[in-house]
Amino acid sequence: MKIYPKVIFNSVSEISVEFLKDNKINALILDVDNTLINIERIIPENTKKWVEIMKKNNIKLYILSNTNNKQKVEDVSNALDIPYRNLAKKPSKKGFIKVQEILQEKPENIGVVGDQIFTDVIGGNKCNMFTILVEPIQKKEYWYTRWKRPLENIVKNKFKAKQNKQ
Ligand SMILES: [Mg+2]
Repeated sequence: MKIYPKVIFNSVSEISVEFLKDNKINALILDVDNTLINIERIIPENTKKWVEIMKKNNIKLYILSNTNNKQKVEDVSNALDIPYRNLAKKPSKKGFIKVQEILQEKPENIGVVGDQIFTDVIGGNKCNMFTILVEPIQKKEYWYTRWKRPLENIVKNKFKAKQNKQ
C-alpha cells in the first residue's frame, strides 16, 4: 500500500500553475471537507482566487468527495463552478477512474488533492495519479476523521524528514 503523497502543501492555494506544468499535470481531482471548505462549510477567499487562476490556465478541476451530504458538495460545486461526484468511497479506485474518464487525461497527468492519506492519497496512488496532500483547513474535526490523524502525522513527519535529506 502506497501511503506517501508525491508532495505536501499547506493549502490548495500554494499549488502553483508552474508546479503543475513542471509535473505535466493537466487536471486536479479535489477533495471537499477540510480541503476546499472548513467545518463551517466556508470556502476561504484565497481558495476562490486559486480556483480562478487554475481555470484561466486551463487546469481542469473536478470535485470527488466521500460525503453522503449531496447538498453540501453541491453548494461548493455551484460556488466554485466545478463539477462533482459524491459518495466516492475513496480510497476505492472506482470514483477516481470515473472522473478520469470524464477528464480524458492519463492518470499521470492528473493530480489528486486532499487532506487525508487514508482516502485521498492511498486512492490516488492506487490509480497511479500524482498525489498532493494538503494540511486540513481547520484543526477542529469530525470525530470519525480525528482518530486517523496521529498515523497521518507519523507519515507526514517521515515524508518531511526524507525530503530534507534530499
Ligand atoms: Mg477531506
